[in-house]
Amino acid sequence: MDRLTPVEQRAPGHWQVGTVGAVKPETPRVKSFSIELPMWMPHLPGQHYDVRLTAPDGYRAQRSYSVASSPLDEGRIELTIDRLEDGEVSPYFHDVVVEGDQVEVRGPFTSYFVWRGEAPVLLVGGGSGVVPLMAMLRHRRRTMPELPMRLVYSVRTAEDVIYHGELGDETVLTFTREPPPGWSGHTGRINAALVSEAAPEPGTAFVCGSNGFVETASALLLEVGFDPARVRTERFGPTG
Ligand SMILES: Cc1cc2nc3c(=O)[nH]c(=O)nc-3n(C[C@H](O)[C@H](O)[C@H](O)COP(=O)(O)OP(=O)(O)OC[C@H]3O[C@@H](n4cnc5c(N)ncnc54)[C@H](O)[C@@H]3O)c2cc1C
Repeated sequence: MDRLTPVEQRAPGHWQVGTVGAVKPETPRVKSFSIELPMWMPHLPGQHYDVRLTAPDGYRAQRSYSVASSPLDEGRIELTIDRLEDGEVSPYFHDVVVEGDQVEVRGPFTSYFVWRGEAPVLLVGGGSGVVPLMAMLRHRRRTMPELPMRLVYSVRTAEDVIYHGELGDETVLTFTREPPPGWSGHTGRINAALVSEAAPEPGTAFVCGSNGFVETASALLLEVGFDPARVRTERFGPTG
């Protein structure tokens, strides 16, 4: 029997060379990269890809980046990358990668931090942790706009709001450092009152951000009555 069916050839895990399309600055330190993939396969909102860079001397660095786009965008994925000052991979994307470049990726990965249409759903993101949540929001808008989904999004200042043009009534923002002038909404860290306001009834929750953010936010969700089995978390980095 011929086992090399087209489906098997497109299974995740194979490195492939993608071509960078549009590069969109989102904030002063965050950019979105649209990447066309020759072996594209639909992802589930919440999944990520691995990206691998190889230096001329053969040195390799590999990092994970969540898919920000809906799986309805056939043939391409969007990755949104926060530039870490002393980082290896994220500054390369920001400072070097331009439209038309080729990048090596493999995915999509993860079966736990994915949204499969559960409702109601509360998304809780800190900083670039909003990226996989955006894939869920975008996909819900295009497939089941009536489905109850809210986003609680914690950012430092107004200029740090990623996807600001796309956030609508479903989003509750809180500014932890400096709110924009005239802001009458939430400020400071996410607290129980904010979570209860966004999600009057506990349902499924997706929490993503730095380790510290995820710890605090998921503890809050349990405090306001979320079932631990329905709180899914994704941690992006080592700092709090
Ligand atoms: C499943 C998954 C999905 C991810 N999705 C995204 C995404 O969509 N967008 C995105 O921008 N990043 C995402 N990340 C983080 C990403 O994989 C890298 O860790 C990040 O880009 C830093 O890589 P670097 O090579 O630039 O820095 P490194 O060279 O790895 O690290 C530089 C310094 O920054 C610290 N550091 C590393 N990662 C972080 C972090 N996330 N926050 C704060 N400090 C850190 C390190 O301890 C070190 O001191 C994701 C991580 C995981 C595990």
